[in-house]
Amino acid sequence: MAERMIVIGGDAAGMSAASQARRRRRDRSDLEIVAFERGNFTSYSACGIPYWVSGLVEDRDELISRDPRTFRDEFGIEVRTRHEVTAIDLDRREVIARDLDGGGEVRAGFDTLVYATGASPVQPEWARDDVSGVFGVQTLDDGAALIGWLEREPRPRHAVVVGGGYVGVEMAEALVQRGLKVQLVEQADQP
Ligand SMILES: Cc1cc2nc3c(=O)[nH]c(=O)nc-3n(C[C@H](O)[C@H](O)[C@H](O)COP(=O)(O)OP(=O)(O)OC[C@H]3O[C@@H](n4cnc5c(N)ncnc54)[C@H](O)[C@@H]3O)c2cc1C
Repeated sequence: MAERMIVIGGDAAGMSAASQARRRRRDRSDLEIVAFERGNFTSYSACGIPYWVSGLVEDRDELISRDPRTFRDEFGIEVRTRHEVTAIDLDRREVIARDLDGGGEVRAGFDTLVYATGASPVQPEWARDDVSGVFGVQTLDDGAALIGWLEREPRPRHAVVVGGGYVGVEMAEALVQRGLKVQLVEQADQP
C-alpha cells in the first residue's frame, strides 16, 4: 500500500512541501499526497492582495501560480479545497476535516503530516461575530471578501487599518487608491 502524506494548508509552505515530496518520490503508487485547504485557492500570492484591492492587479487569477487541477494532473497531488482540518487524531494517525460545502466530516490517515496553516490576523473578541465590515488579510478569500464589501452600495468611504507593519501600510495605500479616507493605527512610535 502507498504511503500517504497529508498537508494542511494549500499555500506557499504547504504546497512547496507537497511539490518537493513529489520531486523526491515521483511514483504516485509509492507516495500518495493529499492537501487540505479550507479556502478556494492554492499557491496564491498573498503579497499581491493589496495590489488586487487597489486595482493595480485586475485579474485575481494573476495571483495564482498553481491551481488544484494542475497539482492533480501534473504532480499527482490531490487537493481538497473548502476542507477545514478541525482535529488531528495522533493515536490513529488521522486528520479530521470538515467539508465546508457538503457539511460532512472526512477522516484521512497519514504516515507523514505537514502542518502549514500560516499566521492569521488577530481579531478582537468584539469583532468576531455580528460586526460587519471587519476584515483580516491572509488569504485570497479574505481579499475577495474585502473587495466584495468595498463594491457594495452605498460604497464604504472610511477605513481604519489596525497595524502599521508592511501589510497594514500596503493595505492603507490600496484603500487610499480606491478613494477611501483611511486612518492607520499603530501602537509603536513609527509605522
Ligand atoms: C497582504 C500581504 C502582503 C504580503 N506581502 C509580502 C511580501 O511582499 N513579501 C513577502 O515575502 N511576504 C509577504 N507576505 C507574507 C507571505 O504571503 C506569507 O509569508 C506566506 O503566504 C506564508 O505562507 P504559508 O503557506 O506559511 O501561510 P499562508 O499563506 O497563510 O497559507 C496558509 C493556508 O492554510 C490554510 N488553512 C489555515 N488553517 C487551515 C485548516 N485548519 N484547514 C485547512 N486549511 C487551513 C489557509 O486557508 C491558507 O490558505 C504578505 C502577506 C500578506 C497577507
